[in-house]
Amino acid sequence: MGNLEKKTALVTGASRGIGRATALALAAEGARVLVHYGRSAEEAEAVVAAIRGNGGEAEALGADLASADGAKSLAERVRAIVGERLDVLVLNAGVSKAARLEDYTTADLETLYATNVRGPFFLMQQLVPLLDEGSSVIVVTSVVARTVIGKPVVENPSIMAYASTKGALETLVKNWAAMLGPRGVRVNSVAPGIIDTDMSNFTKTEAGRETALSLQALKRIGKPEDVADVVAFLASDKARWITGASIPADGGSKL
Ligand code: NAD
Repeated sequence: MGNLEKKTALVTGASRGIGRATALALAAEGARVLVHYGRSAEEAEAVVAAIRGNGGEAEALGADLASADGAKSLAERVRAIVGERLDVLVLNAGVSKAARLEDYTTADLETLYATNVRGPFFLMQQLVPLLDEGSSVIVVTSVVARTVIGKPVVENPSIMAYASTKGALETLVKNWAAMLGPRGVRVNSVAPGIIDTDMSNFTKTEAGRETALSLQALKRIGKPEDVADVVAFLASDKARWITGASIPADGGSKL
């Protein structure tokens, strides 16, 4: 018997990377998973097929979460599937960008804030009526929301603007936890360190990997599953007394 039997979870950005690993981890605990994707229906369908292949239930749902309309249309389809209640909401979709301070453009800031802050905000706004006693919301932020993880990473180019979007999310998590606590809804964040996905492309070079390893107490690069397992814990009733918290999944990258 898994920890999430009879529960339904929506995971945004679940076609690849941390979102994909999270969808699989939640399904392994027995949840029915709504696998949201931005562009790649094919990758999302592969995640759905993997879950169904293991005897689980899943469905793929596409939407551009950089727009309020995209969030609204996704929420409408989720509502049509789940009815009155959503047990687990994982706000994972996000984008990153590295640049020198002098080189950030208006468009860069627009994309970062639209995807990483406004998208989760509007989706939460749409789905909040479906959250009730025992529901769990997990927001994937980043260790860089609270700390500059190392000089080599902040030298040119820097992910400072991305880091600020994750700081905004951490603030929202605390507010949402306070707002929804009286209803028995928990809201937490998982703050990953450097994880081997398409997003962390600097880990793909020898020099980048060395830098990344030098920043970790545990001397390896994180895997999507290292984050997904923490999300699955927070999604379950095992974490029933945890809300408004930010749990690092970073191999000790700020030590
Ligand atoms: P990734 O690029 O593989 O995944 C990002 C996902 O977000 C993709 O599925 C993508 O389709 C989706 N997405 C992006 N823009 C979207 C949009 N406009 N509409 C809908 N979906 C959109 O990277 P990842 O590493 O798996 O990232 C997942 C989360 O983890 C992100 O929020 C990221 O900021 C966070 N994170 C990653 C790392 C890391 O080192 N990889 C570290 C800390 C935090």
